[in-house]
Amino acid sequence: MPRSFLSEIVAVFGHPVAENPTQAMQEAAFQALGLPFRYLTLDVPPGKLADAVTGLRAMTFAGANCTIPHKLAVIPLLDEITPAAAKIGAVNTIVRQPDGRYLGENTDGKGFIRSVVEAGLTIPGSKAVVFGAGGAARAIAVELADAGAAAITLVNRTASRGAELAGLVRERTGVSTTFVEWRGDYAVPSDTQVVVNATSIALFPNVNDRVALDASTLHPGMLVCDVIPNPPDTPFLKEARAAGATTLDGLGMLVYQGTIGFEMWTGQPAPADVMRRALEEVFG
Ligand code: NDP
Repeated sequence: MPRSFLSEIVAVFGHPVAENPTQAMQEAAFQALGLPFRYLTLDVPPGKLADAVTGLRAMTFAGANCTIPHKLAVIPLLDEITPAAAKIGAVNTIVRQPDGRYLGENTDGKGFIRSVVEAGLTIPGSKAVVFGAGGAARAIAVELADAGAAAITLVNRTASRGAELAGLVRERTGVSTTFVEWRGDYAVPSDTQVVVNATSIALFPNVNDRVALDASTLHPGMLVCDVIPNPPDTPFLKEARAAGATTLDGLGMLVYQGTIGFEMWTGQPAPADVMRRALEEVFG
């Protein structure tokens, strides 16, 4: 019986990208299901992204992830992007279609949504507070709005960035979105159901940095989430637990944005537990 040595290739394009842990998570999942897929970590400088996408097409990769600084620049290089990626204005996942065209999707916010729903949050009609106005905050706010959140408050240090994002979410989703400039310890309104740190505060190595909020305004009726995957148990989540709130770490979002990509590339249900364990090993 002749055997095929061909593999389906998926890669992450980024710069710098050496410390991106996605390869460990996706390779563990491919191996667990015995699939002929490989996942490569590829350092692609900004000026070479178009060549990288040409290479992906020539070698018929099954797909790719894009990370800093390529999430916006890749859009014009693709054949099509999903409505969600268009609303968010960024692509983190590329998927080869059956006709050979390449589709861009954004799974960051969807991964977040999967993790909060699994944690028991009912999104329709909920009120959310999101700290930050960068790429992660943008994906989370748009997906919360599309999933039926009633109102979103964006809290950000740089007023221009926060106000711009609030305007974009309002305009593209129709959901009431207000911006609050972050000065001192923010008091979370008591009718909030979900509070999200979508800033880079407490990302390794700055593991002791705190999200400036008045923890006495958190309560057991709130789900408090952090996007920081490394280390996953942040000072913000510790303060929230001490206030009696339910907490959710950033590993959930990272795993679920990866499971969505895995399912789009392979057509198989992703082994989320295997993927989470692989990340936990990477982060020690
Ligand atoms: P950006 O650089 O686009 O945005 C960073 C945001 O953090 C900005 O709003 C910035 O505010 C704010 N910020 C940073 N430091 C401080 C500070 N000391 N005080 C107040 N605000 C601060 O980053 P991303 O949005 O792309 O990523 C944010 C984090 O999300 C990263 O740590 C990343 O690791 C994580 N992430 C996690 C994912 C997951 O799956 N778990 C997926 C994607 C990202 P300002 O506008 O004022 O500068």
